[in-house]
Amino acid sequence: MVAEDHPRSFQAAYWDETFPAVCQRFSVAIALFVLFMGVGAFVEGRYYPERATQAWLLWALEAAAGIVGAGISWLPRLRARVLSITAASAIAVIALICTYHGGVGASAERLATVLGCMLNLLAVLVPWARQAQAVTVLGTLASFGAADPHLVATESMTFPWVVLAAAATTSVCAAVFLHQYRFEAFRRTALQAEEAEISAALADFGETLSRNLGQEGLLEQVNRLAVSALRCDFSSLFLFDERRGVYALASGFGGDPEALADLAGLDFAPDSLPLFARFQPGALIEMADTAEQDLVPPALMERLATASALCAPVARGERIIGILVTGYNARKGAFSRRQCRLALGIAHATAIALENTRLVGDLRAANRLKSEFVATMSHELRTPLNVIMGYTQMLADGAIGPDDPASYAETLDRIHRNAVELLELVSATLDMGRLEAGREAVASGTVHLGQLFAELAREVQPITPAGVALAWRSDFGPEPVLADRVKLKTVLKNLVGNALKFTAAGAVQITARRVENQLAIAVRDTGIGIAPEHLSLIFEMFRQVDSSSTRQHGGVGLGLHIARRLVELMGGTISVESRPGAGSTFTVTLPLRAATPVAAPATAA
Ligand code: ADP
Repeated sequence: MVAEDHPRSFQAAYWDETFPAVCQRFSVAIALFVLFMGVGAFVEGRYYPERATQAWLLWALEAAAGIVGAGISWLPRLRARVLSITAASAIAVIALICTYHGGVGASAERLATVLGCMLNLLAVLVPWARQAQAVTVLGTLASFGAADPHLVATESMTFPWVVLAAAATTSVCAAVFLHQYRFEAFRRTALQAEEAEISAALADFGETLSRNLGQEGLLEQVNRLAVSALRCDFSSLFLFDERRGVYALASGFGGDPEALADLAGLDFAPDSLPLFARFQPGALIEMADTAEQDLVPPALMERLATASALCAPVARGERIIGILVTGYNARKGAFSRRQCRLALGIAHATAIALENTRLVGDLRAANRLKSEFVATMSHELRTPLNVIMGYTQMLADGAIGPDDPASYAETLDRIHRNAVELLELVSATLDMGRLEAGREAVASGTVHLGQLFAELAREVQPITPAGVALAWRSDFGPEPVLADRVKLKTVLKNLVGNALKFTAAGAVQITARRVENQLAIAVRDTGIGIAPEHLSLIFEMFRQVDSSSTRQHGGVGLGLHIARRLVELMGGTISVESRPGAGSTFTVTLPLRAATPVAAPATAA
């Protein structure tokens, strides 16, 4: 059940604030009454000297009844009875007025007017709502009824009764409408104050989390702040562990230490509790009494010392990545509107903090990789440049010259090979730049795999170690396929280049086959192989199994990344199988589309 507004708590808060106002306003009403009735008693004595004593005596009694009632209403221990006390006091005063008027046989119209004034004075001045006003009205009518036989009416007795009935009705209406208005104003102000308090608490929460972003103890901070903001006993944050597919406690604060230790040892599979099936982003789940619900076994809740709990999903978009559970060890009952709003806000801020922490981690990793790349790149660029400079210097010094044709040719060949390596490095970096900028477009055309293989065989021949048998085989024969020739060649050259680089002796085979409706090209070598933990990493940018400065093999860690990006651009996939010491097989699969057969030039097979 989602917690909602609690009107009863508003009512209680309203009366807590209104009771003192009732005492105060009733006292003012009595003071005004004593004043005006005093003036009345004085005028009565002047016009009817024979009634003067009675008039002053009754005035004193009325004043005493009013003052005593007002005085008692201020007593703190009678606070809950303020409405009854003030209404009783008002009725006593009114009964005394009626007694006097009946006793002296006064005018019924005058009495009805005095009572009407009194009732409206009370309704307007005293914020005591319809019940107290209605009771006072009934008391008034009864007192007037009792005095009725002794009163003197100028015309019919009906007129005073009509006047009194009208005054009584308007006074009750006034009390009802004023109460509604006051209560609504109170509710609006209270909501605004609560809203401001919630916003301030959440802003404070967000600021603390940003300050602690990426630091240890961030999650404990979340729970600590949740406990203090919600004023509850404990807060625990469970995060979904993608690898194990379970919810596990990431951090907890407050509550029973033994229960927390218990929780730390528990894993919850998403289908282990009905609770998980009920979660939706942005919706709270409230367990007002953990013994009376069917979302989590009550025995488990008892073991975890949880009497009531509020669960807020921590979501990244539509995906729930964790759950924030706050609650009480012993207190049962519904959570307030404020607590619900805060729990949701805290869960939301936590999701943002977790996402930011992940991004900060990614950025740090990317930064580290870039630094490694710059170091590797400088090294890779310097090595062939040094070789080129060394040999050209020797040529310039005449240490090697055309008079020794063998050394001369070999030197020129070395200079050339190093220059080619430099060019490849720069080309790979430019390829990366183009891919990153999204400028690489697929240009499909007719490709004769046999011809492509022959071309590649010629190009990699200079880098093929003496002890490696290089074999090319295509099941397609002269049949052409539709593909982006340039991209396919770049991919294969990278894979074959790696196979030759990491195979000192043995075999490297390149085979092209038709697998269902796919073109599958496998590059298999018997080289050093790759450990399983590195298999998922080698396709990432700048990743190398060995990136140390003392490594034996050249390269900047871009080849496989570029290959994968190009294959994906062509709508295909690239995968690897490998065993350390036994060699590796990289397989590229591309959607096979038939091309119009064209006579194939010479093939290498
Ligand atoms: P580079 O070869 O320039 O270092 P790549 O992206 O082509 O970068 O390869 C990344 C890493 O993957 C290599 O450094 C190497 O550790 C590993 N690797 C790639 N191909 C092979 C292979 N055929 N045998 C063993 N390891 C390989």
